[in-house]
Amino acid sequence: MVKQADVDKIDNFTEKERKYYNLLLQYRDVIAGNMKSHAENALDASNADKRGVTTHMADVGADSSRNEMELQLMTDDGSVLDMINDAIQRLLDHEYGKCHDCGAEIPEARLEAKPYAIYCVKCKSIREKNDGHNPYVD
Ligand SMILES: [Zn+2]
Repeated sequence: MVKQADVDKIDNFTEKERKYYNLLLQYRDVIAGNMKSHAENALDASNADKRGVTTHMADVGADSSRNEMELQLMTDDGSVLDMINDAIQRLLDHEYGKCHDCGAEIPEARLEAKPYAIYCVKCKSIREKNDGHNPYVD
């Protein structure tokens, strides 16, 4: 499913892009494995070995963000998977980390907690107050 052109792009990722790419793959593994009750274990397992994840990334799984993540995975598997795949595509296109609404850089802390985020906190809260719409861009 990964094209050769994409493999070349992945080889040329910056350190930051690679970090988010690895994080997105972890999330995708958890969802693809349909780990509803074992999401936590799966994440720990993939933190521990195969992807060369740094200790810094293990810190990302702090309790609050982990619980939030698990909740999201449980409520909306299909669309989260789509969002993760879209985020990987944005990495390949070097468009990753920009707010879809205002174009601002999404802060790293937010991306580390939710690597498939497409809106900055400001635009997300605007959408939450407007039934998922942003009157400034829709
Ligand atoms: Zn924004």
